[in-house]
Amino acid sequence: MTDPPVHPAAPTTPAAAATPVADPGPAVAALDTIVSLAKRRGFVFPSSEIYGGINAVWDYGPLGVELKNNVKRAWWRAMVQERDDIVGLDAGILMAPQVWVTSGHVASFSDPLVECGTCRRRYRLDELPGAEGLSVTDQKDPGVVERLGLRCPNDGGPLSPPRRFNLMFKTYMGPVEEDAAVVYLRPETAQGSYVNFKNVQQSSRKKLPFGIAQIGKSFRNEISPGNFVFRMREFEQMEMQYFVRPDDAARIFDEWLPRRWDWYARYGVDSRRLRFREHAPDELAHYAKKAIDVEYRFPFGWKELEGIHNRGDFDLGNHQRASGENLEYFDPATEEHFIPFIIETAGGPDRAAFTFLIDSYREEEVRGEKRVSLALHPDLAPYKVAVLPLLKKRPEIVALCHKIRDDLKTDMMAVYDDTAAIGKLYRRQDEIGTPWCITVDVDSLEDGAVTVRDRDSMTQERVPVEGVKRLITDRLAASRA
Ligand code: ATP
Repeated sequence: MTDPPVHPAAPTTPAAAATPVADPGPAVAALDTIVSLAKRRGFVFPSSEIYGGINAVWDYGPLGVELKNNVKRAWWRAMVQERDDIVGLDAGILMAPQVWVTSGHVASFSDPLVECGTCRRRYRLDELPGAEGLSVTDQKDPGVVERLGLRCPNDGGPLSPPRRFNLMFKTYMGPVEEDAAVVYLRPETAQGSYVNFKNVQQSSRKKLPFGIAQIGKSFRNEISPGNFVFRMREFEQMEMQYFVRPDDAARIFDEWLPRRWDWYARYGVDSRRLRFREHAPDELAHYAKKAIDVEYRFPFGWKELEGIHNRGDFDLGNHQRASGENLEYFDPATEEHFIPFIIETAGGPDRAAFTFLIDSYREEEVRGEKRVSLALHPDLAPYKVAVLPLLKKRPEIVALCHKIRDDLKTDMMAVYDDTAAIGKLYRRQDEIGTPWCITVDVDSLEDGAVTVRDRDSMTQERVPVEGVKRLITDRLAASRA
């Protein structure tokens, strides 16, 4: 568990600014430590690996899918289940193409691309060494490559002036591949919430302020994907659109900042590795009036974990104009009709799960041996419990293990493992973050008690078999409180 969260006041300066925190360094020095653990233990695999892989797509293995599902559940609990004012939605990935024209994505959802004249490699300008943090005005300057003396990081070749590259994937709907049938794979879930604003508001009878939460796949043809699951071309988002009165927008924006920070801290991210960073006016996306990111200190620097945006009336206003549908809200208290403003919290379960993995990674020496563990919040851990026999040759011991596991599995992910000696079994469970191990030994057959071992303290206690399920469910509940 980390200390109670401390969230510094978010910056509100006109230029891009981050809350001033001393660099705590990353929780794990080398990204490779996490990438290899993820592959070895079945969290994340490269997609289509037997064919040499496909760039920037990753598959979640047996443990990864549990972790990511738990992250999504934890977000849904905080954003929908525990609130009266936010409801869920699951809109389609494919939408009417007009949506993306109106939203501004067809015209301006693009990144600055430069190409090497010799090796033909392509880069996102602002990710080249020497161009990080380049202002958006500079990114648009055709002479910027020359002015900064930028060269290809691969072969030192000359780079082209930047040109805008649209990040949306296109596909075709219907049997004929013709322009009229072009549709886009959504690059964000948000638009599904905007076009359903009226449907959701009227069917759920919500009054302002209220929100629509969605979790789902999005696609971006990123120019320079990388850093494992940090930047992929196919990924998931967890986005919430909160509809408010225009005069409440600034206050409500400020209220969401600590809430989102606290969510990461509550699930185990050390607050010292979080900071807020405000977007500079020329960095703001085309829809945004104000944007502040929650950033995490990844092994590759401070990077966005989630963005909190004041989108004003840009989205509903434009959709009303383009569709001809009235998207105004009628406030019965004041008898006013108006277009609500939108405060958005935009994060993703891939980046969040990645962060929880990195920040929970522990290496220590125990009795002269290296011990690796993931101190994951119990709610996020892929398995809550492992049931282990001390002697797998004793059928009564194995039978009792299965009985305990059968009792637990209706309520939680519980596994049985007898493929190694007990010390090794503990180490394996530590490495995948299982909070509790239950060991059945010869004495259990006599005294009807088992040993419950705690992942973080490594303490062991004797518990009667009948009390085991209650003990674990109570501890799980306590971890959520
Ligand atoms: P970045 O500046 O990192 O490209 P962004 O500002 O474009 O991100 P948003 O459009 O605000 O990101 O997307 C909201 C969230 O969706 C991000 O905070 C991140 O968690 C997730 N996300 C966006 N793009 C990707 C991606 N390519 N791979 C994984 N997650 C992503």
